[in-house]
Amino acid sequence: MPSVVLSQLPIPRHNLGRRTGNIPLGAACLKRAVQDLPGASVQILPQELASYLGDAALIEHLQKIQAEIYGFTVFSWNLQRSVYFAEKLKTAGRCRIVFGGPEITPDNDLAHSAFVDFHVYGEGEAVFRRLLHDADAWAPGRGAESAAEWFRTAASPYLDGMINPTFENLMLLETQRGCPYRCGFCYYNKSRQGLVFAEEPNLLRAMAWAVDRQIAEIYLLDPCLNARPHLKELLVEIARLNAGGGIRLFSEIRAEAVDDELADRLAAAGFYWFEIGLQSTHPQALRLMDRPTRLRRFVEGAQRLKARGITPSIDLIIGLPGDDLPGFRRSVDFVLDHGLQDDVQIFPLSILPGTDFRRRHRELGLRYEPHPPYAVASSRGFSPEDFLLAYDYAESRLDTAFFPMPDLDASWRAAAACEMEAAGDLRVVIGGRRYVAKLMLNRERPLDEIRRLAEQLTLPYQVLVGSGVESDYLKKVLAIATAANPFTPLEIVFFEPSGLPRTQELLAVVRLQRPHYLDGDLRFLFARPGNRAVLFTLVSADPAVRWRGDMERQVFWWRRSKLPEIEDLPEFEDLDGVLIDAPVSTAEILAWQNRFGRSAAERYHISFADARLQKRWLVLTGPDDYVENVMNWEAGK
Ligand code: SF4
Repeated sequence: MPSVVLSQLPIPRHNLGRRTGNIPLGAACLKRAVQDLPGASVQILPQELASYLGDAALIEHLQKIQAEIYGFTVFSWNLQRSVYFAEKLKTAGRCRIVFGGPEITPDNDLAHSAFVDFHVYGEGEAVFRRLLHDADAWAPGRGAESAAEWFRTAASPYLDGMINPTFENLMLLETQRGCPYRCGFCYYNKSRQGLVFAEEPNLLRAMAWAVDRQIAEIYLLDPCLNARPHLKELLVEIARLNAGGGIRLFSEIRAEAVDDELADRLAAAGFYWFEIGLQSTHPQALRLMDRPTRLRRFVEGAQRLKARGITPSIDLIIGLPGDDLPGFRRSVDFVLDHGLQDDVQIFPLSILPGTDFRRRHRELGLRYEPHPPYAVASSRGFSPEDFLLAYDYAESRLDTAFFPMPDLDASWRAAAACEMEAAGDLRVVIGGRRYVAKLMLNRERPLDEIRRLAEQLTLPYQVLVGSGVESDYLKKVLAIATAANPFTPLEIVFFEPSGLPRTQELLAVVRLQRPHYLDGDLRFLFARPGNRAVLFTLVSADPAVRWRGDMERQVFWWRRSKLPEIEDLPEFEDLDGVLIDAPVSTAEILAWQNRFGRSAAERYHISFADARLQKRWLVLTGPDDYVENVMNWEAGK
């Protein structure tokens, strides 16, 4: 029986330590499905390594395992990186590569790489079993087979220890596969016929297991929870198990199906938040996406949830066929007019492989980017500028930012007293090994040393540039680091540079994959398309605003003898934040953080020079956003 490693690569992000939600449930289901095969040896790449190692470090880790089969769960956000990993693994030694996941569809040319030996369409358990015990099963190079019966009767893979929920204190529970609806933009239903429901005793066992282990959150992955037969009875049982309310439950539901009785039972079971797709109120758009919606009942259902303390998180889509800018604005107004604006998510339409909209894009007049996330560039009703205008309207009406800049972290030392000239790289311990998260360039270091360090970078990483470092040298470092990590986002932080850094020249030497996934995903962060994977931060004690380009921010370097009072901060309101680096004791900074905490963080972008204090600040002000264990800072080699 061959040895197997299964991996799921995360959504790329700026800010090391942010929760990724990159939980390898699909891999755990595959492992569970072959556990009775004699000699089966399936490893799942641990979440902390998969989510936070840069390309070179992660590939090295995978190569060292010397598995005979490497499998990847592929989504739009990791497709190109997974193909790159497949190429690296395949060319380094004898192994076979399997791709499965939502992105693997017959019509997706980007997924059909010569480095991939087998493509699994749809659910994977049955095909994976065949591949492991029948050498001839590999020959077609692609395959699909229903796993409905297996799914219906199998226990959650958490119960057998195939997957551990403690890393993000979040458990995923798949209670249903398939969806009764057929929305034109959605891939979900295209890979299988009909619906299948996990047996109730297995679900309740998983729920009881989570209660025993005091898991904080469970996300029920049902695309549409209300489609489950006997849901109300199941909720009574869940309420009994979760009587203390210790577990917060999340899921997706059609609001029209929520009557008073269902809302009561959802609240009693511990539901806290529901994602609810409205997408549009435009009748023509609803018709073309084959999503009939009774708006009055939709509002009543969402309000019933809200009245019971459950947040209805409303989804809207910009760029739907049949819709236009005035129609989108009416949809935003509709949400506001009915008091449903607590949590609104707005997505530009993606033309995903395998969907009805992908198949009919010409007929529907949809022009879209050919690479993930396949965002619509224009449609009959939306010009390219209309997308920006739509976001502007939604942001001003809903008083929120849909594309905030990454959190400010300009920390540069892991010791209380240290001059920048004497500071070294900052490392974090992940999976028992030390990796470089902040590469310190306070002098010109040998390029061989940089090459060695480039193999140990995290995802994302920062390059900290001291004032004496020449631009030509920095370019060489960036070329080395990004060539070794072509999919890993990075931030370059300049400390008191003698002149303004020329970011376009620096971007010209960067060897990142272009377009990077973030170039598409964060397209609307700035008005023009372009670089979104490299962030530039300038730290200076000069408060005059000098830097204002795309992906550029300027931060005041607070090195005054005392910590700032809150009334000192408005002086820097025109800048993008303040790096607090005062020569005071750790105890004073801790007291400052405790005193101002969230109220300061809501108004100003604040960072701390000491990485350990920075970590404390991030966790204090965004407790749901970060995984503390990823930011175990250590200084030195
Ligand atoms: S968008 Fe939701 S309701 Fe529509 S087909 Fe997809 S999973 Fe089903």
